Amino acid sequence: MSGKKAEEKRLAALWAQVTEPELRAAQEYINWCRTQLGLPHWIIYVGDNGPCPDDAYADCEVNPTRYMAKVRLCRRWLDIGATAQANALLHECLHVSHHQLTEVIRCEVRNTLPRKAQAAFNVIECRSDLEAERMVDQLATALTDSLGAVKVWKRIRRANGLKP
Ligand SMILES: [Zn+2]
Repeated sequence: MSGKKAEEKRLAALWAQVTEPELRAAQEYINWCRTQLGLPHWIIYVGDNGPCPDDAYADCEVNPTRYMAKVRLCRRWLDIGATAQANALLHECLHVSHHQLTEVIRCEVRNTLPRKAQAAFNVIECRSDLEAERMVDQLATALTDSLGAVKVWKRIRRANGLKP
């Protein structure tokens, strides 16, 4: 078996272990994050229809009109450890909080620019996404620490019969 095939098999097996209690624990922890971040008007839910792309620990799809966001976990979720898990979910909730910051560029700036300026727009959009990512990463790291988020995540995991 090639290295790539073996890794694919390993990731598929890991993902198969992300079962109901794992998703439930993630949901409970996200509910806690939502409260901590002052987002009670949002429904942030863990999607159960497949993992996010392999290049992230988690991702989220935000629907600002309905105040809903779907979070997906990655296939190597069980491999990344409690600290990275707690940080990743908090990170996704922060994206919900700061969603409008990138959307204002994506929608409003795009629509006000003339067609000729699309190339410039693409650069601005790419840069804005990168800076938002850096900001969210930094905030998630600081907040994971100051909110004692890893402790909370481990407690929720234990309560759901999972290894902390
Ligand atoms: Zn992110």
